[in-house]
Amino acid sequence: MTAPKSLWHMETDLPRFPSLEGDRNTDVLIIGGGLAGLLCAFQLHRAGVDCLVVEATQICGGVTGNTTAKITAQHGLIYHKLTQWMGEEGAAEYLKANQRALTEYRALCGNIDCSFEERSAYVYTLDAPQKLRKEQQALEAISCPTIWHQSTELPVPVAAALEMPNQAQFRPLEFVRAILPGLSIRENTLVRRVDDTVAYTDGGVVRAKKVVFCTHFPFIDRRGCYFMKMYQDRSYVLALEGVRPTEGMYIDESGHGLSFRSAGDLLLLGGGSHRTGKQGGGWEELRRTARRYWPQSREVAHWATQDCMTLDGAPYIGAYSPAEPNWYVATGFNKWGMTSSMAASLLLRDLLVKGTADWGHVFDPARAMKPLPLAANIVSSTVGLLTPSLRRCPHLGCALKWNPREHTWDCPCHGSRFTAEGRLLNSPAAKDWKGAPARPPRGK
Ligand SMILES: Cc1cc2nc3c(=O)[nH]c(=O)nc-3n(C[C@H](O)[C@H](O)[C@H](O)COP(=O)(O)OP(=O)(O)OC[C@H]3O[C@@H](n4cnc5c(N)ncnc54)[C@H](O)[C@@H]3O)c2cc1C
Repeated sequence: MTAPKSLWHMETDLPRFPSLEGDRNTDVLIIGGGLAGLLCAFQLHRAGVDCLVVEATQICGGVTGNTTAKITAQHGLIYHKLTQWMGEEGAAEYLKANQRALTEYRALCGNIDCSFEERSAYVYTLDAPQKLRKEQQALEAISCPTIWHQSTELPVPVAAALEMPNQAQFRPLEFVRAILPGLSIRENTLVRRVDDTVAYTDGGVVRAKKVVFCTHFPFIDRRGCYFMKMYQDRSYVLALEGVRPTEGMYIDESGHGLSFRSAGDLLLLGGGSHRTGKQGGGWEELRRTARRYWPQSREVAHWATQDCMTLDGAPYIGAYSPAEPNWYVATGFNKWGMTSSMAASLLLRDLLVKGTADWGHVFDPARAMKPLPLAANIVSSTVGLLTPSLRRCPHLGCALKWNPREHTWDCPCHGSRFTAEGRLLNSPAAKDWKGAPARPPRGK
């Protein structure tokens, strides 16, 4: 069963790049050719740094090609949460980094044909306006005005919505195509191992001075403990025609509700989310919503993808681990990787070029973790480890779950996924699952 294609992949054919054949030296090796890796390469290349991107499959073949591509500093209800955990200073720094990312997109997209459109972003609630009030107060405290609404253009009956004006949306793969010229990229080049700053692939060895891990979920566990402080959450998208597309970009505050944006004449409806390897609403939930509110609509595409979720809501961008002085990382974007990837590229460029950055402490991967979410994540992984099953993830050995919706084997601990035949689809596992049966379980 082949994975359904996103609207972006249906519209845009990106150029292809050769695989690595033979050994290479470079100043900076970037592992992973999604938006984070490509933007890092773009910023470093602009700064005159020699760098090489190696991508396991094809560039933007991961989450980036399946995003909904809203470019906004409004990330659900993050500012109240961050203010409580890191104080106003942390929330202000998070806001500034994302606003800076938006400004950078605005400047770049002025010369790129990628349907960059200024739109308002809205976070709405079905039943908890007090949560939005707290978010509004947290934003006001860091000098970011928002607009309160009792109703919206959505057919969904909202209790309240908070608008952040002057945000944006775009066609992500058209943007990516425009930043590729001049970049050195090798596709179909899986990095199997990194020792110090030497990376091993089947096609050759890359010797670098610095290594940046933009592999979505970092695949090296002996440093950084990312497997303890992250999990993956899967979401579903429908592209609908015959519906009046929304003016604004919308997200439900609950984290398990709906998301809306337009793409030309189409409406992109997102939702059905769940932790990877667990049960959730999926496309069926979205199709029920479409039938209820727009019975005349027609589905022109559907797809699914997953993102890395951190325990305090802020990404991990910076030094990979204190034990590896030449390793850097950009991960944990919590389904807000458009601005977070851009912020990561600016921050990592400063760290790599100047050797320091006077911003970005809120993203420090070595920051203290919230104890309760950390304990809950560890318990969840332990349950996966202790669950009896013959089918175990080659990453850390958790029991794999059959996903009848997408015909894949999914790991509920850290989110690795495999085809029915055992071919690796999603990291952190870094190899195919050898014990795979030729066919899925009977009756599924
Ligand atoms: C349904 C959904 C909707 C979203 N919508 C939005 C949105 O509207 N706005 C927003 O800001 N964010 C959104 N996001 C989040 C955003 O799309 C992601 O955070 C972002 O695309 C992640 O980019 P990335 O480069 O980190 O990962 P990816 O695009 O997955 O790139 C990582 C790459 O690394 C490669 N790789 C992995 N391991 C290796 C290895 N060992 N060797 C070589 N290569 C390797 C992979 O093949 C992959 O191509 C959404 C996420 C989801 C799930």
